Amino acid sequence: MTSNPLNLEVCDIERRLGVIAKQPGNCDKHGQFAVIIRKQGQSGCPDCAQEARDAQELIDQQATQERIAASRLERKLGASLIPRRFMDKTFANYRAETDNQRHNLARCKQYAEQFRQHRADGRCIVMTGTPGTGKTHLAAATAGAIMLRTGMTAVYRTVAGMLQYIKGSYGNNAEYTEAQAFASLVEPDLLIIDEVGATKPSEFELATLFNVINGRYEDQRPTIVISNLDFDRLGEVLGDRSVDRLREGRGIGLVFKGESERLRKEGF
Ligand SMILES: [Zn+2]
Repeated sequence: MTSNPLNLEVCDIERRLGVIAKQPGNCDKHGQFAVIIRKQGQSGCPDCAQEARDAQELIDQQATQERIAASRLERKLGASLIPRRFMDKTFANYRAETDNQRHNLARCKQYAEQFRQHRADGRCIVMTGTPGTGKTHLAAATAGAIMLRTGMTAVYRTVAGMLQYIKGSYGNNAEYTEAQAFASLVEPDLLIIDEVGATKPSEFELATLFNVINGRYEDQRPTIVISNLDFDRLGEVLGDRSVDRLREGRGIGLVFKGESERLRKEGF
């Protein structure tokens, strides 16, 4: 089959490099080749080996390209995981003084500890109630514990920040597309949406919120929603469809009651 006869001679240099002998081999794809026998074992088809290296190189190159593109996009979108000002918010420095706060702290710790299961079930948390009772603190601590424990990703946005960021994809000079903006909100393992209901949302805003929450729901990715309103008013500011999505998969509702920590600190 092959035109040039196999050279099965072992030269001096090869011998010094550990080649003991050569013998004829056959590859189904590339035909005859010289099998190189060393103490450690024998070689396979050199053309197959080259093809495998080429294929691997292509995969590596693509992976590098994707990593570069992803980090570039992340910078562009300003998708910081958790804002610096929340990085020091931990379970340990959450001041749980009332039974209500102790209960909510315990639920959040438990959620973080079992996040792999909650992630698989797409189980969300809705935190509602009195301003200044540490909802954002506990949500940030939960996200921090999850990132530390599992290496999964978490993103924090206020409703206003999220909308602004999606609007940033409109127009001719936008540096990212609307699809990319949505992807960066839907793809993280955990998304925290804070300040829900701070302002009365427009139809556009309700639709946008639903797209994000529903996109995450369809991929079974958990979302933590934080609002100063009571749970039964959440439908007005988030839309009933979104609230339904958050409830699916035994969503967890945490009500924060009591004296506002912020107000108390200021001496009221
Ligand atoms: Zn081959």
